[in-house]
Amino acid sequence: MATDTRVLAAEFQYLEAHSTGEVLTWLAEYGTRAKILAGGTDLLVRMKTGQMKPEYVIYIKKVAGLDYIQADEAGLRIGAATSLMDVEGHAAVKTGYSALYEAIRSMAATAIRNMGTIAGNLVNASPAADTAPPLLVYDAVLQLELQDGVRWVPVDEFFLGPGKTCLAPEELLTEISIPPQDPGNGSSFLKLGRVAIDIAKINVAVSLQRSGRDCTSCRIAFGSVAPRPIRIQEAEAVLTGKRMSNELVEAAAQAGAAAIKPISDNRSTREYRLKVSRVILGEALRAAWQRAGGVL
Ligand SMILES: Cc1cc2nc3c(=O)[nH]c(=O)nc-3n(C[C@H](O)[C@H](O)[C@H](O)COP(=O)(O)OP(=O)(O)OC[C@H]3O[C@@H](n4cnc5c(N)ncnc54)[C@H](O)[C@@H]3O)c2cc1C
Repeated sequence: MATDTRVLAAEFQYLEAHSTGEVLTWLAEYGTRAKILAGGTDLLVRMKTGQMKPEYVIYIKKVAGLDYIQADEAGLRIGAATSLMDVEGHAAVKTGYSALYEAIRSMAATAIRNMGTIAGNLVNASPAADTAPPLLVYDAVLQLELQDGVRWVPVDEFFLGPGKTCLAPEELLTEISIPPQDPGNGSSFLKLGRVAIDIAKINVAVSLQRSGRDCTSCRIAFGSVAPRPIRIQEAEAVLTGKRMSNELVEAAAQAGAAAIKPISDNRSTREYRLKVSRVILGEALRAAWQRAGGVL
């Protein structure tokens, strides 16, 4: 693989779209020969290293109506061209969707967050993608548009493996939709990297529901421990419908660590991931419970 990431060696045609219809027409015509360019923080790196050689690059940040955040009683809707920085800066995200807020805050430097998008992070489909675990625990749904139709896919069904999703070459991810969070909900995200702001060695998100001292529902997702970001239902079952306690948190954290089968790669080892998964899951559960108004 080329290591000189300063030049784009392969020729391509640059297409600047101004409407979703235009993007979908080009995708229908060029299919696998085209790539969408949003922030470019993944795509351009891959093009520079020669991993991707699209003949057509379709820029979507000038498409009217793809850059929005709508927060109301129906939940949170984020347009595909919205920058990570705009999502992070939205008051409703900070107050109501803590796991997503913390995940974005943990990503890269300001310059990358100004350019990058959630949609790009999801379609890139890294097992370590930081926005994936929060969206998994919020049960987010993705709107995928074709020239002659639209479908909605739960984020849990979107990822197929490293770099692989169920998105067809002719489809555009247009919106990320998150259901409203009920009162008594608390969520959190934690990540361990090699340095403070880095791709995750491991990351985790938790969203739980409190009623008095009981945890009435709980969703947990890990990243960087499997070929795709995954929910950990074994750990969720330990907490669901139970009276919350430090012992229960520890039991859930252990169940989470026991459920994963991480590998060793250039970022971390299997042993390290297994060891720290219990610790960060426990911490994430305590933080989410406190945010839900609970005391331990
Ligand atoms: C220095 C650096 C640090 C980084 N740190 C982190 C980190 O800490 N955590 C992390 O998770 N990631 C990190 N990344 C990766 C990257 O910044 C994120 O994945 C970002 O969210 C990608 O968004 P983008 O808009 O730039 O995607 P792009 O590069 O524009 O696109 C990525 C892929 O998605 C496709 N695509 C984009 N939008 C759509 C759409 N709407 N519909 C269909 N296909 C689409 C593109 O064709 C491409 O294949 C880092 C990258 C860099 C360069």
